[in-house]
Amino acid sequence: GKFVYSFNEGSKDMRDLLGGKGANLAEMTKIGLPVPFGFTISTDACKDYLNKGGMLDDEIVREVYEHLDELEQVMGKKFGDIENPLLVSVRSGAPVSMPGMMDTILNLGLNDDSVKGLAAKTGNERFAYDSYRRFIQMFGDVVMEIPKSKFDQIFDGRKKEVGAEYDVDLKTEDLKVIIEGYKELVKAELGREFPQNPKDQLMEAIQAVFRSWNNERAILYRKLNNISASLGTAVNVQSMVFGNTGENSGTGVAFTRSPVNGENKIFGEFLVNAQGEDVVAGIRTPQPIDQMKESFPDVYGKFEDIARILEDHYKDMQDMEFTVEEGKLFMLQTRNGKRTAEAAVKVAVDMVNEEKIDKETAIMRIAPEQIDQLLHPAFDAEELKKHTPIGKGLPASPGAACGEIVFSADDAAVAKEAGKKVVLVREETSPEDLAGMVAAEGILTARGGMTSHAAVVARGMGKCCVAGCHDITVYEEEKYMEIHGVKYHEGDMISINGTDGSVYAAEIATKAPELSGNFGTIMKWADEIRTIGVRTNADNPRDAKQAVQFGAEGIGLCRTEHMFFEEERIPKIRRMILADTEEERREALAGLLPYQKGDFKGLYETMAGKPVTIRLLDPPLHEFLPKNEEDMKELSEQFGIPLEKIKTKTIELHEFNPMLGHRGCRLAVTYPEIAEMQTEAIITAALEVKKETGIDIKPEIMVPLVGIPNELKNVKKTIDETAERCFEQAGERLNYMVGTMIEIPRAALVADEIAEDAEFFSFGTNDMTQMGFGFSRDDTGKIIREYVEKGVLEEDPFQVLDQRGVGKLVKMAAEEGRKTRPNIKLGICGEHGGNPKTIDFCHRLGLNYVSCSPFRVPIARLAAAQAAI
Ligand code: ADP
Ligand code: MG
Ligand code: MG
Repeated sequence: GKFVYSFNEGSKDMRDLLGGKGANLAEMTKIGLPVPFGFTISTDACKDYLNKGGMLDDEIVREVYEHLDELEQVMGKKFGDIENPLLVSVRSGAPVSMPGMMDTILNLGLNDDSVKGLAAKTGNERFAYDSYRRFIQMFGDVVMEIPKSKFDQIFDGRKKEVGAEYDVDLKTEDLKVIIEGYKELVKAELGREFPQNPKDQLMEAIQAVFRSWNNERAILYRKLNNISASLGTAVNVQSMVFGNTGENSGTGVAFTRSPVNGENKIFGEFLVNAQGEDVVAGIRTPQPIDQMKESFPDVYGKFEDIARILEDHYKDMQDMEFTVEEGKLFMLQTRNGKRTAEAAVKVAVDMVNEEKIDKETAIMRIAPEQIDQLLHPAFDAEELKKHTPIGKGLPASPGAACGEIVFSADDAAVAKEAGKKVVLVREETSPEDLAGMVAAEGILTARGGMTSHAAVVARGMGKCCVAGCHDITVYEEEKYMEIHGVKYHEGDMISINGTDGSVYAAEIATKAPELSGNFGTIMKWADEIRTIGVRTNADNPRDAKQAVQFGAEGIGLCRTEHMFFEEERIPKIRRMILADTEEERREALAGLLPYQKGDFKGLYETMAGKPVTIRLLDPPLHEFLPKNEEDMKELSEQFGIPLEKIKTKTIELHEFNPMLGHRGCRLAVTYPEIAEMQTEAIITAALEVKKETGIDIKPEIMVPLVGIPNELKNVKKTIDETAERCFEQAGERLNYMVGTMIEIPRAALVADEIAEDAEFFSFGTNDMTQMGFGFSRDDTGKIIREYVEKGVLEEDPFQVLDQRGVGKLVKMAAEEGRKTRPNIKLGICGEHGGNPKTIDFCHRLGLNYVSCSPFRVPIARLAAAQAAI
């Protein structure tokens, strides 16, 4: 097979084989942009290497040498040459962008001879030796896995010795001493010399990149982003250009538009006299790209042109890396830029308006999960005015975060487990901090720029981040930070504003977001494209109103039990449960009726004629029992029941397995008076709202937990009779529907029979997953997490519907139901209803709607549109 490709052999469509970086380097070469020449070792070679237990096949080695010869010829330089040496970078690049996950080695090819060649060629000895020491350090760290700190010790030691404040104060002689120190360190650590033959260096580096595919950080990143482990990474070998030869050189990172807010203007950072890693690693804080415009006007003009060419070519916002060597511009990378939700939405809408892409493409460009960022709170402006920032950093990723300070990724993870909200404060973050960044509400760093690790990763995660807040000195080990002489310790409250970079030593209230114009446009397009309806799960007018604002087209699930948990109602429902006779029960229920009716009226009014599905009482009665002695005493006093009796009754009603016990429609079959009361509330509320507002209400009454067709028949009879009685009393009628949840596996199996009485099915996929897997929802969280970690399950079936198994039940029930009743209305109301993958599945089954929590409604609308494209 062919394992190695020159940059002039590939194209952007060869991502799987050449990795994203390699494919785009080839594409830029193809369209004539200035890219230092090189070649790419394919992902096939990586897979081959890993399959062979970490052995490079002879064929791969042969092809690498072949391309090395070609590179030497093209560049007119030779590996290891004492006069004009070829130096290369060795860069990893997977098919899917994995920023910071795998390490790049620069200046490979330097040794005791070629360093002299580089010095002679550039006439800059200091530069040559500085490059050499950087190379040994990087190679030692990445390939030889010698802790970086040991190199730093030698470096800093020398600085101290000669009284150098900055790196640039070190003289060539110092660098030579440092290099000797580095080489000794390598020998001491590994018992062998630092490799002097550039070909050996190259082969070792290539293998290190392949190995790094399976390092911990890479594995974690893949897991967090659902990236398959079987892709492998490619390796790019590219001739070096130097941004660190002096004041006429530099290196930068830039986006064609702002990745923060989408503004159509080049956004980026530039560092004079610096090499690659310096910008991204956040070691020195770079200058905004506008300054490059001033200091390098010609180069900047050229760069602007290239940025435009690239964006037009890829038809998407680009994230570019470049270097200027002695006034000459070189492109080192381009890719579709990661962006905040705000930027994603603006760029998508702008590009449609600029006629670069169509609406469908715009819709597909936005990750549904990402728009969550736009729906979450920001600081309340009024509240914010009351506080003065204690410091200011860069607004690296928008949003608001508030929590206790922690100083390490591990502490963040532990605190999160304990249910705390934390803000992770670091000098700067590195890929090792990933898990902690996931756990934190927000991230604050003291160093680094807008393209530092913290900034890039936080934006990707949609997490609020303030970066490069120089006011802060962080003492990570001692667990405190100092700002203007004031110390803040672990556990102290801070708030950070990722939208303007402010840091506050206070807990600041947040408020719901306003949905911007561009967001509205995207949502409108999504609604035009999607075919499946989006409803919400809501039990009260407040949630319902929020959901309608977010575009919900109805209520797919109103859980009536939530209405009973309120302060003054719970004793009444307890009284009902503890009743000995039907009569007592009816009396208690009569006390609850006005509350229920009021609840439903509020919902109907809020929904203003949109469909409302109300589920009859579902949870195990057990859940309403008095929890403690105090509750019991209160009940005893309020209703004059002897305390002893309450105690006995409570013990009697205890269930061993309440989720499979006295709940759902079983309540309505055994205590029909509960269903009667609820039906009466549902119907009379609708009649009254109709009378008062003129709005036509067609309640959808939903019977939970049916597994036996006769259960539904039985409860439907109660509902119909009660409704009839209400109509007679009111002297007026209205239309209503009776349907059922399909959540017990048996219900799916006999759905054809159930459909004889059910006018609609709503798939309760939480219970269906629970019973389908036999996983107790409340007890198996930990087990499932471990299953996912061990690969027993690919994902948590309570988050993403298991299409293979539980989904099959849904599919079967839909088909069976339609056989009996072709127009049967079908929806889903489990937690899965807001999950994009599940929505796609529901779309394919042709369900009428999905129903999800209010904050997920926009996500569902977008996902539904994507499913239809
Ligand atoms: P990452 O995937 O982490 O961004 P890269 O492979 O892009 O790693 O390398 C990081 C940086 O190293 C680049 O942005 C660039 O500045 C520098 N670099 C890589 N290759 C070269 C090269 N051939 N010449 C000069 N600088 C390079
Ligand atoms: Mg890069
Ligand atoms: Mg259920």
